[in-house]
Amino acid sequence: MFNRRDIHDSWNELVLAWKLVWQAVDDLELWAAFMLHCDRLNALARQQGLNELEAALAPLLHMMEGLAAPNDSEKSAVDRLLPGIFAAVREACGPAPRRSKTQLAEDETGLPLVVVLSRHPDELEELLMQVEHYGYALKVFSDAVAALRLAVTQRAAALVVEVDAEIDEATIEMTRQAAQAGVKWFPLSSFGDFKLRLQAVRLKAQGFFLKPLTATAFVDAIDPLIFTAREEPFRVMIVDDSVTVLASIMKALESQPNLRFCAVRQPELVLETLMDFAPDVLLLDFHMQECNGLEVAKIIRQNKAFESIPLIYLTSETSEAIQLEAMRHGGDDFLTKPISQAQLVNTVISKAERYRSLRKLMVEDSLTGLFNHVKTKALLQQALLQAERVGSPVCYAILDIDHFKKVNDTYGHTVGDRVLRSLARFLKQRLRKADIVGRYGGEEFVVVFVDAPVEQALERLESIRDSFSRIYHAYDDGIFSVTFSAGMAQFPDYGNMMDLMVAADQALYAAKREGRNRVNLA
Ligand code: GH3
Ligand code: MG
Ligand code: MG
Repeated sequence: MFNRRDIHDSWNELVLAWKLVWQAVDDLELWAAFMLHCDRLNALARQQGLNELEAALAPLLHMMEGLAAPNDSEKSAVDRLLPGIFAAVREACGPAPRRSKTQLAEDETGLPLVVVLSRHPDELEELLMQVEHYGYALKVFSDAVAALRLAVTQRAAALVVEVDAEIDEATIEMTRQAAQAGVKWFPLSSFGDFKLRLQAVRLKAQGFFLKPLTATAFVDAIDPLIFTAREEPFRVMIVDDSVTVLASIMKALESQPNLRFCAVRQPELVLETLMDFAPDVLLLDFHMQECNGLEVAKIIRQNKAFESIPLIYLTSETSEAIQLEAMRHGGDDFLTKPISQAQLVNTVISKAERYRSLRKLMVEDSLTGLFNHVKTKALLQQALLQAERVGSPVCYAILDIDHFKKVNDTYGHTVGDRVLRSLARFLKQRLRKADIVGRYGGEEFVVVFVDAPVEQALERLESIRDSFSRIYHAYDDGIFSVTFSAGMAQFPDYGNMMDLMVAADQALYAAKREGRNRVNLA
């Protein structure tokens, strides 16, 4: 599948690598690193069929063939080629072509597929309709061979298999084959005793569904499988003035598919590169010619944005006193040179993971996992600045659940919370990755459609409103449904963040006055 993010990241890395080539005089490793980035971008372009980008890269790759190190005029020649490549990158990553209704229908088939093998398909009819609204395609079979075949060939997100009090031989064989093909499986049973659950766990089941299977239980279990697959790679920045050390670290990190990295040799470029590259972890040389790592660390930590980024010192210093001193000044760990590859990779990954989860806590709303109020506004501001630069539209929408107080009063606060979570999940699943979804507070949500013309944004939100109103929420004694109202405003019709938000708010109140369960445009 076409992934513009990869292209974009790869381009950014290429540019950073190029900056380094200019900074360094006669630096073979950095030139080699730059060539590597060109090759990588070229491979992505080929893999994704981006002919223009491949064509734009061709003269550069041609020039690099057999060129051990560039002189200044060759460097200038590269400089002249880069804008053309950038134009091709932008073309490839630019606004997606507008979708017509018929194309949207094709998208529906691109929904994550879940295959169910059941002896009572009629029992699942209700569930079938419900999960469709949650953004899943469900296929129910009563024939095991057909079910397995579809799950494996279509790389289903999950396979659900109905079982009795004990999992029989045929099912065991089937789940073994599914697992071998990388398909996660779940048993569905009327029995939920320990013995059966244990057997399922031993057969590598991902979870356990008790009958009757509700949409909520289904989505709660399957969602994480889909969402974790979208983890971004970790970003590592290395600051070291020794080419040999840089090269060996880059070599070690290169073997890790989920790591991206960038190297800096001059400490004075650290802040700028930190902003550009936004790393998850920073490796910092302790002794550099111009200054020492401690000093650089202090400068970094003075900057609020980098207050908590994990900082690992690279040092040949074994003195405990010096190490302690460094840790007091904002260091998180030490790696002693010569650095073992395994230790390097492990330390980098574990620090980056911790930082990610810490940052998540700071920007996420704990109930729904969406961006919190502060982060949502910051992202909106950023999106508007970007839109202003490139002249693209942004649509801002504020959503408010209708009569939510009544939901709480009638079914209880816990059930109310579930509704909030389900709307959050619903929005996340139905919107593009580039769109921003936040919980603004209480039962109010914000959606920012980045780079989307207003007709398209309205159509999407309208379809979300419609689907959401059709799903059921469960409480102890039955089911109920909930609607929301929304107001939308478009930038640059409303030219700054304040005006945009006020306009959308007013449109929302109008929607409420006009009877709720509708989307109004400012
Ligand atoms: P309207 O259609 O006009 O929006 O009516 P409403 O009842 O939704 O509006 P109102 O603003 O009067 O009520 C919002 C309710 O949302 C009140 C509050 O109890 C509830 N609420 C806010 N935050 C939460 C939360 O985190 N969990 C739950 N369960 N309820 C919440
Ligand atoms: Mg409200
Ligand atoms: Mg409300």
